[in-house]
Amino acid sequence: MLIGQGFDAHRFAPDRPLILGGVEIPHDQGMLAHSDGDVLIHALCDALLGAAGLGDIGRHFPDTDAAFAGIDSRILLRRVMESLVERGLSVRNADLTLIAQQPKLSPYIDAMREVLAGDLGCSVARVNVKATTMEKMGFTGRGEGIAASAAVLLNESDD
Ligand code: MG
Repeated sequence: MLIGQGFDAHRFAPDRPLILGGVEIPHDQGMLAHSDGDVLIHALCDALLGAAGLGDIGRHFPDTDAAFAGIDSRILLRRVMESLVERGLSVRNADLTLIAQQPKLSPYIDAMREVLAGDLGCSVARVNVKATTMEKMGFTGRGEGIAASAAVLLNESDD
């Protein structure tokens, strides 16, 4: 098996949708980013690429490339999974943490797990999503942005 971890953070910006784990969350601001700013999926992609020894999301999908402007991060996640599947790799489990002071994320966790399990090609039971605050400390605590971390375990086929 192969282990990987990822981390990402994005700044809040007005007039942007807030999309986390592929789920749109009602809020008065969203994430400033070249893509749709789905910080949870970005951390997950980095964990998957890390476990596979394939670098990071910035290498595969540079933010200088207009092709990725405003792109749905699930498209990036599915492309990462295609690269892994080509290499005989599959997801054993994923454990993900969102770090945000606002908004309250617990009502959306199960929807995120469903979306991500679909894209990862594993059961919902193998995708855990947690949310925490930083007790009003630091940039997430001050409401400047949202961060996410991800840990994954991959199965490597025997052939
Ligand atoms: Mg990012």
